[in-house]
Amino acid sequence: MMQQLAQLRARYMKLMEGRCGLDKLNRDLLILWIIIGFLNGFIGSRIVSLCGLILPLLAGLRMFSTSIYKRSKENRKYLELKSSVVDGVKIRYRMIKERKKHRYYKCKNCSAYIRVKRKKGEHTIDCPKCGKEIRVKIR
Ligand SMILES: [Zn+2]
Repeated sequence: MMQQLAQLRARYMKLMEGRCGLDKLNRDLLILWIIIGFLNGFIGSRIVSLCGLILPLLAGLRMFSTSIYKRSKENRKYLELKSSVVDGVKIRYRMIKERKKHRYYKCKNCSAYIRVKRKKGEHTIDCPKCGKEIRVKIR
């Protein structure tokens, strides 16, 4: 049994040699496929299930691709996009959660978010990222 597993592993290693393999983009494509398949269980749409077949096909093509540089570039772009979306959602969640005690301002120079205690009046704050002075008015 252990020897068969080792042989299987060796075959897999040989098959995947010089190929992209399972990166984060492929993993998320497969997860999205599973989610769509699960949700389509309730809807039962043929169009959605046909569109859902594109995802594992794309993931498979990317996994077995030998253009590792191109695939890693795609993966990097995907991760950048994903992190910017996740960060945006996190900051908005925090803004809502802390809205009674703090205000958030976006620096016009570097786009960083700056948290300011909610005290009435005009305040001058320095951006912690770029150091630019920002004037804010809290009512
Ligand atoms: Zn700034």
